[in-house]
Amino acid sequence: MSKEIELPLQFAPTLVAWQRRFGRHSLPWQNTRDPYRVWLSEIMLQQTQVTTVLGYYQRFLERFPTVSDLGAATLDEVLAMWAGLGYYSRARNLHACAQAVREQHGGEFPRTAAALQELPGIGRSTAAAIAAFCFAERVAILDGNVKRVLTRLLAFDGDMASSAQEKKLWALATELLPPEQDMVAYTQGVMDLGSGVCTPRSPQCLLCPVSELCRGREQGEPTKFPVKTKKLKRSQRENWWLWLEHEGQVLLQQRPAKGVWAGLWSLPLFDDEAALQAAAQGLDLGQGPGQGLETMPRIQHALTHFDWTLHTQRAELQRRPADAQFHGKWVARERLADYALPAPLKKMIQA
Ligand code: SF4
Repeated sequence: MSKEIELPLQFAPTLVAWQRRFGRHSLPWQNTRDPYRVWLSEIMLQQTQVTTVLGYYQRFLERFPTVSDLGAATLDEVLAMWAGLGYYSRARNLHACAQAVREQHGGEFPRTAAALQELPGIGRSTAAAIAAFCFAERVAILDGNVKRVLTRLLAFDGDMASSAQEKKLWALATELLPPEQDMVAYTQGVMDLGSGVCTPRSPQCLLCPVSELCRGREQGEPTKFPVKTKKLKRSQRENWWLWLEHEGQVLLQQRPAKGVWAGLWSLPLFDDEAALQAAAQGLDLGQGPGQGLETMPRIQHALTHFDWTLHTQRAELQRRPADAQFHGKWVARERLADYALPAPLKKMIQA
């Protein structure tokens, strides 16, 4: 993409006026200049729908009213509160960031996008959102929704898989910014436009406040933007869970600190059925009808990069195995809610 792009100078004032009249104003993280609340909502809203986030957001604030409270909690407590929201690296970063704010910044978030970006888990766009909403700094956000809006508005056909093109779009986004006093409405406006009007597959151009300025619409095919060549390749994965119970207690093992479900509590997980059978050798499974290993309904679980088939074998043990055979924690069924469990496991146990 080599041609010069002429900027529609009316974009910011039009969007600001529209946001003030028609945009969203009643979400619980709006109408606040508290960086803790804005940051928490920004992290939760990454890859998660507003309707899902609402309940989690309220519970988090009740349990951890300030960033220092969150920083003082244990990682396990935070993961347990996060369980079900997915993308758990966000929860680990959330905790690390709260600790950094508490210990290195006296419990106050820094007031510029540049300083905010130094904190764990805060990327350039999130830092910009906090700085724009809380401190009216003139910095541009550029998350997935905003990329879509701006590439369509400008008919920007640079490949978003290229970091040079992304940098170029970021520079254009910065040039489009309004003066400081309009930064809150503008930043919220571009978010509202991306989530409610300029949607991925069926943009509502007829209702769009900036349709007169939009080059993608003018060219007749706005959905061809943003251009991105690299496609995510999904793979398949299959694993086996062993669900052991003894006198109302379930055996949980903590997942390693890196990888899928890092740090969460899970049933012992095996690569194949043979490995599970080998591990189950020597367990006191009892004999007779209703005893031994029972096959539970298969679970299909979709993660970003792969589709996961999870098989489960369950057994009620007569006797607990030695710790050397099965490390982990035996947890009473009624206490399982205190542990951060992966969403499909939680659902299966509740069922
Ligand atoms: Fe998106 Fe259509 Fe509005 Fe352009 S006119 S910004 S394509 S909704």
